[in-house]
Parts: sequence; C-alpha cells; structure tokens
Amino acid sequence: MFSLVELSDLQTTGLPSWCPGCGNFSIWQVIKMAVIELDLNAKDVVIVSGIGCSGKYPYWIKTYGFHSIHGRTLPVATGIRLANHDLKVIAIGGDGDGYSEGTNHVLHAARRNVDMAYLVCNNQIYGLTTGQVSPTSLRGTKTKTTPIGSFEWPINPISIALAAGASFVARGFAGDVRHLTDLIIKAITHEGFGFLDMLQPCVTFNKVNTYKFFRERVYKLQDENHDTNDAIKAYKKSLEWGERIPIGIFYDGKKPTYESQISQLSKGPLSEHDISDIDISSEMKNFV
Ligand code: SF4
Repeated sequence: MFSLVELSDLQTTGLPSWCPGCGNFSIWQVIKMAVIELDLNAKDVVIVSGIGCSGKYPYWIKTYGFHSIHGRTLPVATGIRLANHDLKVIAIGGDGDGYSEGTNHVLHAARRNVDMAYLVCNNQIYGLTTGQVSPTSLRGTKTKTTPIGSFEWPINPISIALAAGASFVARGFAGDVRHLTDLIIKAITHEGFGFLDMLQPCVTFNKVNTYKFFRERVYKLQDENHDTNDAIKAYKKSLEWGERIPIGIFYDGKKPTYESQISQLSKGPLSEHDISDIDISSEMKNFV
C-alpha cells in the first residue's frame, strides 16, 4: 500500500532502553508499521501507556503520547478519546498494568465499547521491577516473590475480555511480526474496543515463556477456519492453552461505540466546540 507516512516521521531522537532481545522491540516496530500501513498522520495518533517496561512507548514513537500512572491507561485513553474523537487512540500496557492494577478498567472499557485499540504486552512477569510473579505467570513460576514456585492459577485475558463484552478480541505473538502487524491494524481500525493480548517474551526475567516456548506452540486461528463472529466458539477457543496456543482473532463483533451514543459529540470533537459564550465564572468560584 502506498503511504505518505515514513518510518523517519515516527522516529524519536531517543532510543529504547529495553534489554537486548526483548519482545518489546518487535512490538515497537510493528506499531510503527501499522501506523504507516494505515497511512495515519502522526499528529492524528495518540499513544497512552501505564507503568512498566511497556510504559515507555510514548517516548519512542513520535506521535502524541501520554505516560499515565499504574493501571490507569484506559481511563486516561478514554478521556482523550472523548475529548477528541478525531484522534486514533492506542492504549498500551503490560500484564501487570492491565490485569492487576488496572483490571477493573479493562472490564469497563470493554463493556462500554470505547473506540480505541488496547494492546497488552503480556510477558507473564513484572519486568521493570526486576522479576516478580504477575497475574498471567504460569502456576509454578519461580520468581523473587515466589522462590518455590507460584501457588496461583493465572488469569485468562482472552476469556475475561470476551466475558466483559469486548467487541474485538485477539492474541498476537511478538515473534511473528507480519501477523502481529495485521492484528494491530485490525485492532486500530475496529469500530469499538479493540483488545489485543500480545505474547511478549521477557528475555531477562521469564526463562519459561521464551520465543522457543511460543514458537513450538502457537498456531493461527485463521488456519483452522475459526468463525470470528461466534462469541461462544471464541470463548471455547480462549480456554485452549498448553501444547497448542491459538493466536489471531477470537472474536470480531459489532455494537455501537460509547462515543456514537453521546449526542454532544455529534457536533464534532469536544476540543473544537466553541465555548466562548458559556459563562463558568460561578463554577470556578466554587473550585478555585
Ligand atoms: Fe523486556 Fe523484560 Fe527487559 Fe523489561 S525486563 S525490557 S520486559 S526483557
């Protein structure tokens, strides 16, 4: 596809400080490729992150960006989207950020169907804080906080997103760049909440869920003619994890977005509304 946007348009002067070989490097490239393939102008995109190794994306992709606080990626992204729904909003965070500190926000953003992409760098460990068990760590995982192995069962992000009513649910793998680019494009262009869990090896602290581990197990749902319109089949597929791990689109449904139901937004983005004739001086007296 011909694109007016070039890689250099999205390049920042600073370079990522992730560990060599980290799965974040391929996701970093893939997001830029998706922006280029969609021919999005950098000024029309905002990347919102939480805390963690994945919190750094807004610094290293030259679009608008907001590095928010732990687990609060989605409320900030929702606010930005409602204030200016002409922007393409890409929310990104880790499994700790999204499935522990911010789990409740994932549920509510999914059920509201706010039009944004939500990309989760799922490395099944807390990387930035140097290797503690996370909500998606496999049972038995040995970390600093679980020296004899975790007693807990991991949560299943795909099942949870489906149960919460997300209208688009997918899983990608950082080791399959072309496939992941296509999924990110779909999550961005989907009309509604585009949920994408990404298997992102943490080469420093997770010695179990490595590139090799995933390469030996992942298979593509599209190769098995999975019906992406069927939420029940999607849920059944979401339970599969072990010798075979499905990647691709589990569910791609349709329902009205949150924004489309707010009448005030039909006149254009809130950020462009003329409010010069609105007197808020009495309200300001109460707060300032
Ligand atoms: Fe990547 Fe893990 Fe290093 Fe963080 S700690 S940059 S997730 S390899």
